[in-house]
Amino acid sequence: MQIGAVLRRAADALRAAGVESPALEARLLLAHALDVPQTALLDRAAEIDPNRFDALLARRLAREPMALILGHQGFWTLDLEVSPATLIPRPDSETLIEAALEAFPDRTAVRRVLDLGTGTGCLLLAALSEFPAAWGVGIDRAPAAAALAARNARRNGLASRAAVVCADWASPIRGRFDLILSNPPYIASQEIGALMPEVAVHEPASALDGGLDGLDAYRTLIPALPGLLNEAGTAVLELGQGQAESARNLARQAGFAAPALRRDLAGIARALVLHRAVP
Ligand code: GLN
Repeated sequence: MQIGAVLRRAADALRAAGVESPALEARLLLAHALDVPQTALLDRAAEIDPNRFDALLARRLAREPMALILGHQGFWTLDLEVSPATLIPRPDSETLIEAALEAFPDRTAVRRVLDLGTGTGCLLLAALSEFPAAWGVGIDRAPAAAALAARNARRNGLASRAAVVCADWASPIRGRFDLILSNPPYIASQEIGALMPEVAVHEPASALDGGLDGLDAYRTLIPALPGLLNEAGTAVLELGQGQAESARNLARQAGFAAPALRRDLAGIARALVLHRAVP
């Protein structure tokens, strides 16, 4: 089969299924089916196994996320294994790493990092990659997520500085941290069904569902933060669109005098930044 014809047929089908970048995704899927880099596609035209390619295409037509089909996703400077057990890392969440870097201009000042609801481990591992003197712990209540985060620590050469624990939020933690990160579930329960099928159908509700108003996780996490942060510590929590004011109020009630926000590339207040001591 001619490669151009294969790609056109796939791109047409993807477009009809409502996929945003059909031509690019057709190339990525074909390269994955052939197990070659995208740039090598033209050399491999003769070796297309239509069955393997069609199986991948069928998964994407069912709106399974590209990252799950390809098996990995880039985040910050890292490449992470993904699985249906956790959220797929998103560029929005890189806003939290930017906020952490801004909070600690001296990269060696961060010694202990905590990531609550670590999932793939993306926030913990990106932080460890930027703060060379840091040791960190990622916590996830889903055993499959905790195992995945541990694999991703090894995959990125960070296992000697990363511990992963399977538990409910910070329940097993006694010590204090310089940097606390979290991307908790924050979608209002009744709004999950309206998200795009890649998210609503293929990502776990346990990583998305923030209860009736989406704020349940913040009500649990924010009051616990003063007891988990070192004196000069900073916590950075991901927010959903429109949640900034409610989350800031919860932070003020927990004793954070000046809860700050950081916007993502779309201009949405994406990160709540909480300094334990106001300088
Ligand atoms: N950002 C995700 C989405 O909108 C939700 C992530 C979360 O609940 N933490 O699909």
